[in-house]
Amino acid sequence: MIVVLAETRNAELHPGSLEAIAAAQALSPDRLILALTGMPGGTIPTDVGSLDVHDVVRLEHELLAGNPTDGVVTALGAWLNEVSPDLVLTAHTYAARDIVPRLAARLKRPLVTDCTALRVTDGHAVFTRLLFQGKLAAEVTLDGPVPHLATLQAGSFRGDTARRRSDPPPIHRIPAAISSDDVRHIADPPFRDAQQEIDLTRADRIVAVGRGIKDASQLSLIQKLAAALGAEIAASRPICDNGWLPMDRQVGSSGQTVTPALYVAVGISGAIQHVVGMKGARTIVAINKDPDAPIFEIADYGIVGDLFEVVPALIAALEQR
Ligand SMILES: Cc1cc2nc3c(=O)[nH]c(=O)nc-3n(C[C@H](O)[C@H](O)[C@H](O)COP(=O)(O)OP(=O)(O)OC[C@H]3O[C@@H](n4cnc5c(N)ncnc54)[C@H](O)[C@@H]3O)c2cc1C
Repeated sequence: MIVVLAETRNAELHPGSLEAIAAAQALSPDRLILALTGMPGGTIPTDVGSLDVHDVVRLEHELLAGNPTDGVVTALGAWLNEVSPDLVLTAHTYAARDIVPRLAARLKRPLVTDCTALRVTDGHAVFTRLLFQGKLAAEVTLDGPVPHLATLQAGSFRGDTARRRSDPPPIHRIPAAISSDDVRHIADPPFRDAQQEIDLTRADRIVAVGRGIKDASQLSLIQKLAAALGAEIAASRPICDNGWLPMDRQVGSSGQTVTPALYVAVGISGAIQHVVGMKGARTIVAINKDPDAPIFEIADYGIVGDLFEVVPALIAALEQR
């Protein structure tokens, strides 16, 4: 049995939770449970009703208003001890970083964090996680009694491949086993959502610009390409550090993680800190004058050339359609 701990954001399932469900489904567990926590009678996101999971469980208590970390850990800990799954998966979100290590300690079970891949070999889950800022990939298996816990790096699994079903899964609202002594935290509203003017995680097409653009005055070229493609604009870190584009346009390990259908990387070298934020894009097009630029290792289509020649030609071709 696999349990996916899900989060909601603005009454919708967090995109990372959908990715965790897709990862869990790919392992074909005999039973897959989606678990949520919150206030009694709280809304269950509508897209949960079409997910191909065996059950949806919502642990509920007045004290779980805003999902305070210690309350959620106590509620989930007690419930997981009862149902005893083999594996507990969740997205590596800010909330998960707070909750899941405490949960693993409470259950006295092993945890592997920020995994980029997951498979089962000889009945054992094998997790991949990056080390030394992405220079090495380690394969990790966990020992000892189950459940084993793992968090999954954003963008490593495709949420849009999560299987759906026509009849809704059964939803069980279960009173959470917590008391006021268990809850000393008060959860503030999520700071990230409030700060960001645009949510690149929802963009279907993205044109991202890097240091190859050379100067802020040249950005209009990228804006024209984005307009011709109906895409959002994103950037590598140096562009945002220079103040040429706002920080909420930055993609990468210290920016947003995006999974659009199309990601056009213009004058971006493909440093690992950038790539971790966009490698989940379905189709990656790279434009770079250096044929050895690392971005070409993950690009589906590569154009080796000067962006100041290639991009105007692309815009002209797109405008002729
Ligand atoms: C802790 C930490 C966190 C970081 N977080 C992030 C992050 O979140 N996001 C991020 O992006 N980076 C991040 N970085 C920085 C990262 O390591 C790289 O420095 C950065 O991604 C490089 O940006 P770039 O590709 O735009 O620039 P460069 O690496 O300088 O690459 C520019 C590319 O443009 C090409 N080019 C130049 N001129 C042209 C032309 N005329 N036509 C076509 N191509 C051209 C060059 O060949 C080159 O490949 C982080 C670094 C650290 C240490």
